[in-house]
Amino acid sequence: MAHDCIFCKIVQGDVPSSRVYEDEQTLAFLDIHPVNPGHTLVIPKRHALNVFEIGSDDWMAVARTIHRVAPALEQALGADGVNLVMNNRENAGQVVGHAHMHVIPRFTGDGLRPWSHGSYKEGEAEAVLKKITESLQ
Ligand code: AMP
Ligand code: ZN
Repeated sequence: MAHDCIFCKIVQGDVPSSRVYEDEQTLAFLDIHPVNPGHTLVIPKRHALNVFEIGSDDWMAVARTIHRVAPALEQALGADGVNLVMNNRENAGQVVGHAHMHVIPRFTGDGLRPWSHGSYKEGEAEAVLKKITESLQ
């Protein structure tokens, strides 16, 4: 457990939470400040800061839990869709330093607009793609 990590304390049961689901590797619980009712966070029980630090095995376990929880949330709440969101690093909006995926039920007409879209200039997409594929090698 990482010292002073609020989500590690939730895993340990030292901080209360509304537990939605848990297994050996993951925990899903209600976000205390929901975007919409039922907004759930899915975390690895083992502390990791973000997507850059989490091990692939814990990452797969988180994905499995999301795959199980998301349809249950949608059905239980009569939602019309679900957003899966993860903020990684402060510049991307990460506030809590323990990796977590947001599972956000969406309702027709709820008015949420996650982000706006831009467009590429001539040749820009190719240059960006080259950088990414080179980094993956
Ligand atoms: P992020 O901006 O991705 O780091 O999101 C952190 C989320 O954790 C926010 O949506 C908070 O509302 C939520 N949160 C913080 N503390 C707690 C807590 N004790 N129990 C449940 N959710 C929490
Ligand atoms: Zn932690």
